[in-house]
Amino acid sequence: MKQPSPCQTCGACCAYSADWPRATLESEAELARMPARHFDLKAGRMRCIGERCSALVGKVGEATACAIYPQRPLVCRDCEPGDEACAIARSHFGLAPLAPPG
Ligand code: SF4
Ligand code: SF4
Repeated sequence: MKQPSPCQTCGACCAYSADWPRATLESEAELARMPARHFDLKAGRMRCIGERCSALVGKVGEATACAIYPQRPLVCRDCEPGDEACAIARSHFGLAPLAPPG
């Protein structure tokens, strides 16, 4: 049986820095499809409330989800539970690091 993603009880990297959820290699068409409520097209990044991405739903470290999961930026797709950025974000919220990917 497939294990649930640790991200579903974390969300730390989505609330760590307003600079993180930024569009990188998305095409114009992909950017145009991003919901304006959560994506600032002019700035090329997710809208944030403080350091927290506006699309993050739930409570960090308990239960979280991405409100735009199918449309999330590439940088969010590249996040790997257990990588260095994950450990930094989790530590910021007092969460233990995960085992490295692989
Ligand atoms: S910090 Fe790591 S475990 Fe938490 S949501 Fe991000 S990638 Fe997932
Ligand atoms: S778009 Fe979704 S996955 Fe990316 S930072 Fe925001 S809440 Fe997290």
